[in-house]
This record gives sequence, C-alpha cells and structure tokens, in this order.
Amino acid sequence: MKGIGVSPGIAIGRAFIIQKKATVATGILLNGPAEIEVAIAQFDKAVTSAVNEVESIKINSPALSDNDFAILETQIELLSDPEIRESVIEKIESEHKNTSDALLETIAGFVQVFESMEDAYMRARAADVQDIGDRILKNLGNSGPANQLAFKPDTIIIAEDLSPSDTIAMDITKVIGFATQAGSQTSHAAIIAKARGIPAIVGCGADLIDIKNDDVIILDAISGEVFINPNQQILDEYLIKRNVYQRRAVELKALHDVPAITTDGMQITLTANISGAGDLVNVFDNGGEGVGLLRTELLYMNRDTFPTEDEQFEFYKNTALQAKGKPVIVRTIDIGGDKHLPYFNLPAELNPFLGYRAIRVCLDRKDLFITQLKAILRASVFGDLKIMFPMISNIQEIRSAKSILEEAKEELRKDGLPFKSGIKVGIMIEIPSAAITADLLAKEVDFFSIGTNDLCQYTLAVDRMNDKISHLYDPFNPAVLRLISFVIEQGAKQNIHVGMCGEMAADPLATLLLMGMGLKEFSMSAASIPAIKSIIINNSELKAKQVWENVKAMDSSEEILEYLKGI
Ligand code: PEP
Ligand code: MG
Repeated sequence: MKGIGVSPGIAIGRAFIIQKKATVATGILLNGPAEIEVAIAQFDKAVTSAVNEVESIKINSPALSDNDFAILETQIELLSDPEIRESVIEKIESEHKNTSDALLETIAGFVQVFESMEDAYMRARAADVQDIGDRILKNLGNSGPANQLAFKPDTIIIAEDLSPSDTIAMDITKVIGFATQAGSQTSHAAIIAKARGIPAIVGCGADLIDIKNDDVIILDAISGEVFINPNQQILDEYLIKRNVYQRRAVELKALHDVPAITTDGMQITLTANISGAGDLVNVFDNGGEGVGLLRTELLYMNRDTFPTEDEQFEFYKNTALQAKGKPVIVRTIDIGGDKHLPYFNLPAELNPFLGYRAIRVCLDRKDLFITQLKAILRASVFGDLKIMFPMISNIQEIRSAKSILEEAKEELRKDGLPFKSGIKVGIMIEIPSAAITADLLAKEVDFFSIGTNDLCQYTLAVDRMNDKISHLYDPFNPAVLRLISFVIEQGAKQNIHVGMCGEMAADPLATLLLMGMGLKEFSMSAASIPAIKSIIINNSELKAKQVWENVKAMDSSEEILEYLKGI
C-alpha cells in the first residue's frame, strides 16, 4: 500500500488503531428545565476540562515548536469561542437536544463551514474545530483520543486522520511512526511529524482500515510504502534498511561541525528555512549556519488581528538574539495565494496564486508594510538581520518597496529609535519575469534568493497545490534549470550574493547540479542539512561543473534525472 511519505525514515513496529470518534447523534431529548440546566452545566464543565487538558499539553510536552504552540493556542481560543457555546446552548434550550447531540451538530456545522472555504489554510482549520469537539465529547464521557498510556514501545499509529493536538502530545518514546488514510504534505500532522523527526505517511486511502491492532507494520516513509504483516523476507530486508538508515543518520549528524567545503575548496553556506526562533535549536543541532528564509507568516496566523509593531519587534528581536550573530533573512509577509489571514478579508479570487498576494498587498497596504519594516529595522540592532521581498515581478516593485523602507527608517529616526541603516536588502526570485531580468534587478539589491517552489509553478504553469498535475511539477525541466542558471550567473557578474530557499535546495539529486551552476548558499528545513553537506564534502567543484555541463546538453528531465541518479 502506498501513501505520501511526509517525514522520512523507516519504522518497524506494531499497529495501534485510533478509532474514528463517536459521531452519531442519539436523538434523546431532554425533559424539562432541570435537565436543561444540568446539560448546560455538563457542557461548561467538559469545556473547562478540555481547556485544562490542552493547557497541560502546552506545559508538559517537551520541545514544542512555535508552530505546535500556536496550534494549541488556537485550540484554546476555539474552546472558548462564544459562537460555538451559543450554538450548543441554543440547541439544548430551544430544541431540547442532549449535550452530546447539541455538540456534535454544532461541531459538524462549523467543520462544514471551514471545509467549504476556498483557502487551503482556512480549510485546514476544520481539523482544529473537529479536534476540540472530540476533546469536549471525550470529557462528556463519549469516547475520544487514545490514551497515551496504552501505547506500548514501538507503536505505529494507524488512523483515519490525526488531529493537531494529538500529534503534538504524541509520546515519541513509544510512538515510532504513523500512517493516516487522509492528509497531504501541508496537513498539520505532516508538519509536526517532520519537525519531530517521526517517520510518517499520509494519504494512504481506505485500504488502511484492513489493519488490526498489533499487526506488524513496516513504514517506509522514504518511498511512502506501508507493509502489513510482511513475510520474513521483507521483514529481514527492512531490518537491514532501517539499520543502514539509522546509522547513516548518526553519521550525518556527526558532520555537525565539519565545514561545507568540497574536496577542491569550494565553500558552500548551508542555512535553514524557519518560521520562528523556536526552530533555531534544531538548525544549529544540524549544523546550519544561519537562516536563509524566515517565513514571517506564522506571526500573522492563528490570531484575530494584525500583530502590532511592538509584538512584531519582540518576535524579530528574539529570533535575532537566538541566532547568536548568524545571519537571518527576514522575508516580509507573503500572504495571499494559499496563505490566508482570517481577519484580513481578502475577496475570493479565481487565480489566487496569480492575484493579490505578497509584495502586491504590501505596496497597496503601506500601513501594514511600514509597520513590519519598522519592527524588523528596530530588531536589526540585536543581530544580523536582512530584509527580503517576496513575489517581485518587476523593477518598479523593488524601487517602491525600498522607498517605503526609507520612509520607515525616517520615521524611526524621528522617534529616536536605533536601527541598522545599512541593513541588507534582497528579493526572492520566484517569478519567471524576475529571473529573466535578473541582470537588471541585481543592480537594485544586495542579494537574491531563488524560490523554486513558486518559480517552478509559474514557469511550467502548474499549480503547486494540485495533486492531479503534480507529475508536471518538475524542477528538473530544462526551462526551470535555464532560469536558475541565468539568475546565478547574473548575480555573480554583478557581484551580489545568490542563495536558494525553495525545496530544490534540499533535494540531494540537485546538489551537484546547482553547485555546478555556481550556487553558493542552500537554505532548507534543518533536518535536510546533514545529507546535503555530506554530498558537498565528498565531491569537487570540478565534478559539479562537469555535471552541469553534461545536463545542459540534455533535452528532457527524464534524461537529466536518470543521469543525476547515476552519478
Ligand atoms: C518558494 O516559492 O520557493 C519559497 C521558498 O516560498 P514559499 O514556499 O513560502 O512560497
Ligand atoms: Mg514562494
């Protein structure tokens, strides 16, 4: 059986099935005011217990990332949401529904609203609503998430889908992996599994229901394969594969302090993509030398209003301080597309990825932009922060953004607030028009960072979220490679730094090719750094150049990939 491996690794263990929650209403009606009063009290008590549980996960779970923390905060907010309570009380008082039925109907209604939203981020919030509903239900005495104490060592969780809070609370001393029927690369369970290094496969489909408790399971979260009660031959094969993988992981981690230099002296900088200061420990643990991309969207998500200048200042200052003098590229807000803010009512668009997003919003809403820029500037005195503008499609946008940056500096000067006036300014190269005019744009900025995730979708006209056409989403297409190479070449000609922060930077198949093009900085999720470093230190610049020369002569990504797999 095959799904999508979202957090690599190999796990061999026994299945623990997390059953689907009780979702069927009983239809039992309440009888008289006394029962209604008791039902309301029951509901409030169950909500209080649920809040306490989530608070306790927040306090007692080791090493929560900023993202985990934000999810739990959202759930506490949802648990106290007056609209949810009003709806439940209304059903109890006016329709005489019992507490569980009133709750089930309310949650189903809210989940439906979220699930029908166009925006992927808002759709994903349905999981949080379902999660808090299940938690209240459990506190009413009607089933609920599995008791962690029941897990034996080497448990592999099998579930229809996993809720964000259950994934965060997972005791990773016992749970060694999970597989779910539903889910995608961007689902919460996937993001959390990756951050914690738990092998995970999502989107396995309905076949997963054939698995019974205590079945022997092999999760190959590298290929996405799930084996149920495998025969001895497969088991033996995987025991060896797992050992090799684990030994390799230990060896790679040991490269922590080894500089990323090729055998003939080409120096590469390996940095990380992060969402907040909480991710930095993992970056340094894996030998990262700074931050090539701080996605600031998280700071704006999971809340009801835009963060104030002071709130943002604290966030950037904390990141700068915890980066201990290492460079941090702060990307200004990249909302729109698939990233939506509930309190910023952007109208639905037919083509949101081609629409009102990122720098386009910032240049239109100068008030929001200047607030963020002032906060970053103020934090710049606490470390080595740089500013990067996303989704640049022409030179005028850079000039306008820089002019607003100057205004922000002027306002701070007037208020007597300190900042680094010479802060470096760069842009993402993620739109073909920017790549094609890299020679012109290079004159305006201190650095480029190539965003292959978007560059690939725009160059090939392939929606990066649409799994029906994912086979066409191909960074090794010669068109994409030519653009990347041109950007690197122009950066070198004009003496500006060029890095890459798209997912391609973390693809071991692309490392030599990109080095051969002259790429000097690779930014990726922290866990990917050791494997990329290992390729760099075991190869030469000469070989990398030869690889690119050879690839340049090929006309299809099939040919290119076959060649790269063979080197
Ligand atoms: C990119 O487009 O490659 C990128 C790094 O930005 P994001 O994935 O946040 O769009
Ligand atoms: Mg992008």
